[in-house]
Amino acid sequence: MIFLVIILVLFIIYFRLYLYLFPKKRLTILMYHKIDREAQDELTVRVENLEKQFKYLREKNYQPLFFKEIHSVSRKKIIITFDDGYYNNYEFLPALLEKYQLKATIFISTDFIENGYHENKMMSFEDLRNLNPNYFEIALHSHLHKNFRTLNISEIEKDLITNMQILESHQINYSKILAYPYGKYAKNGENQNLLFYTLKKLGIAFAVRIGNKINFFPDKKPYELCRIDIKGGDSLQKFKLKLILGKLKLF
Ligand SMILES: [Zn+2]
Repeated sequence: MIFLVIILVLFIIYFRLYLYLFPKKRLTILMYHKIDREAQDELTVRVENLEKQFKYLREKNYQPLFFKEIHSVSRKKIIITFDDGYYNNYEFLPALLEKYQLKATIFISTDFIENGYHENKMMSFEDLRNLNPNYFEIALHSHLHKNFRTLNISEIEKDLITNMQILESHQINYSKILAYPYGKYAKNGENQNLLFYTLKKLGIAFAVRIGNKINFFPDKKPYELCRIDIKGGDSLQKFKLKLILGKLKLF
């Protein structure tokens, strides 16, 4: 019996289910990449499924937020994020966000906007400028989209400054929030201290990783906020479970 109780308590802690007792302290951040009318894969969600998910968030009264509004007190805070700056975001998101009164933060790698990214059609600077600020927040995803674990601290600093300067030179309003490229950053030790020190110095308020956990907010770790990875193949049922548990697998 005691054994079962211990298992239950560990389960509650591991999946951060205790946050259900403190809805004001919950911050759920979703991570998406591409949207497509027909195709779906790990990084691509079909527009029809995305709409079902948005509709569910609206029905369940999730409070959509931008990072810059993160401190406003509300229940069931949710931040919806899209990485990289794909043109399909520009194509599909404005109508969906308006219809369900949601908001999205788009993390931009400026090199992708300037020079493209493989076969993907990316947004232009003009597209970024045209996004309605009531529904869209632009934020940082580094300039070159390199794994930060492979760069030294001065390379990282230079890259982030470039990311900001290019957005500024195109008159694009952005929030000083960073999504680590590939979700990767120094896991611990002196390199991590240096990284966090540099982010603070640059005025970056928060940084997001992947992690697949609901955040306890305000978090003592502003540079390690977790996002829940929503995959193209996720059923609505799976999406609902992810909103509660974050990750679905034990390991
Ligand atoms: Zn990316």
